[in-house]
Amino acid sequence: MGKITGFKEFERQDEKYTEVKDRVKNYKEFTVPLNESEITEQGSRCMDCGIPFCHSGCPLGNLIPDFNHMVYQGEWQKASWLLHSTNNFPEFTGRLCPAPCEKSCVLGIIEDPVSIENIEKSIVERAFKEGWIKPHPPKVRTGKTIAVVGSGPAGLAAAQQLNRAGHLVTVFERDDAIGGLLRYGIPNFKMEKGIIDRRLAILIAEGIIFKTNVNVGVNYKVEDLKAFDAVVLCGGATVRRSLPTPGIDAKGVVQAMDFLTQQTKVLFGKEVKDQVMATDKNVIVIGGGDTGSDCVGTSNRHGAKSVVNFEIMPKPPGHRSPTTPWPYWPLQLKTTSSHKEGVVRNWLINTKEFIKDKEGKLTALKTINVEWKMVPGQRPQLIEIEGTEKTWPCDLALLALGFTGPEATLSDQLGLETDARSNYKATKYQTNVPNIFAAGDMRRGQSLIVWAISEGREAAREVDRFLMGRTNLATKGSGDLLSVH
Ligand SMILES: Cc1cc2nc3c(=O)[nH]c(=O)nc-3n(C[C@H](O)[C@H](O)[C@H](O)COP(=O)(O)OP(=O)(O)OC[C@H]3O[C@@H](n4cnc5c(N)ncnc54)[C@H](O)[C@@H]3O)c2cc1C
Ligand code: SF4
Repeated sequence: MGKITGFKEFERQDEKYTEVKDRVKNYKEFTVPLNESEITEQGSRCMDCGIPFCHSGCPLGNLIPDFNHMVYQGEWQKASWLLHSTNNFPEFTGRLCPAPCEKSCVLGIIEDPVSIENIEKSIVERAFKEGWIKPHPPKVRTGKTIAVVGSGPAGLAAAQQLNRAGHLVTVFERDDAIGGLLRYGIPNFKMEKGIIDRRLAILIAEGIIFKTNVNVGVNYKVEDLKAFDAVVLCGGATVRRSLPTPGIDAKGVVQAMDFLTQQTKVLFGKEVKDQVMATDKNVIVIGGGDTGSDCVGTSNRHGAKSVVNFEIMPKPPGHRSPTTPWPYWPLQLKTTSSHKEGVVRNWLINTKEFIKDKEGKLTALKTINVEWKMVPGQRPQLIEIEGTEKTWPCDLALLALGFTGPEATLSDQLGLETDARSNYKATKYQTNVPNIFAAGDMRRGQSLIVWAISEGREAAREVDRFLMGRTNLATKGSGDLLSVH
């Protein structure tokens, strides 16, 4: 264990943020990392629990108490080795994961939990700085070829694992750059894109082939996938939800993903015609999740006149709700760094109309307050509260309402079954077509990066077993020698 009395001696410390007034002037990451002695102290707070709930809270089964201990002992290279044995990309999760491990940390019952995510980020950043993360192409090739469709975290994890097993992997991506939502979705201020490029260079040097601007099923025939021994579909869950609300066609009602993607493209010198800007506008972000929060941060960086957020659900409690006791994922109010940059948040509010002028331009939103009626055995009912109608001046409404599921292009053309929620049906990652597998958001619906990496790894294992009759790739939570840098 770290230090027997570590959790009593030291308080949890998190990375600090630079001041709002400075960080909203640009799109760079704004966290101030802890120094080595602070991180060592944080590692020493781990109690090395008999039953480490952190470990089961992590979808990757990261070997958390062990790397906490190594960091406390100053064994950074060993910690990096161990971390990479269960997680291909700790630099993504160390920045962006909501850290279910911390929510289930045993210390969290009586104190602030161990700062596992910060420790993870510190390990991987140290490893890159020291040059410990090097390409390791496989020594032997199997002669089998694999196509991975989609280059988000699921596709990248599947590709790296399958390449390590000796198969020749080609990743097809319809966008002009690799990374999925990590690239075009998650704003640069949450993760600078050089972080993806740094890892991509390793993957390319290991022998993975990447092809961008290839939209399988559109400008690349699905029949051509037959040239591969196996296919892993990691196309994400990209069908955006909209609202059946009058005036939705007003100029100025924009899907959040268009707004976020355009900003990242512009940042990297790509041509975007008529970029949607929030500058000097009254912006209303509809949807209170991660995407909504990213729109708030981006609008403030554009220099919006005002930023308001609507959420149809009730405001969650400030502390863990009794309905989600430890070690469950807590129902609890989340206030992100973007929220702290300036937004007025409203809960239990529904948009009734987008009001437009004669030219069809959005000028205001009409809303009504709502409540949820719970009737046992029935779905919750949304009740509008009479007399609470309100009109909000608005020139830009951003729809951040989530995603209904994956696109059907590939399932239709390949004859694949989907489930009731339109996700690709792939029990043990294998679809109804034996050599076609699916992973990530395409299989489980819109989720988290950590789950996408986990699914990519697990799918790779099943593909390897399908092709070779056995596999040496790691199972969840048990790293193996093939999976380390
Ligand atoms: C705005 C936003 C912010 C988020 N923030 C966070 C966060 O902070 N933390 C977190 O954990 N999660 C976050 N998420 C969720 C997370 O990004 C996803 O769960 C994760 O990226 C899913 O990975 P994936 O590989 O399954 O799919 P994706 O990342 O969606 O990648 C799928 C890729 O497949 C490509 N593709 C699709 N069809 C084809 C085709 N036919 N041919 C070729 N290519 C194709 C797409 O272009 C895309 O690049 C966020 C999501 C959004 C939308
Ligand atoms: S649950 Fe928390 S204290 Fe216990 S081993 Fe995991 S990180 Fe350490």
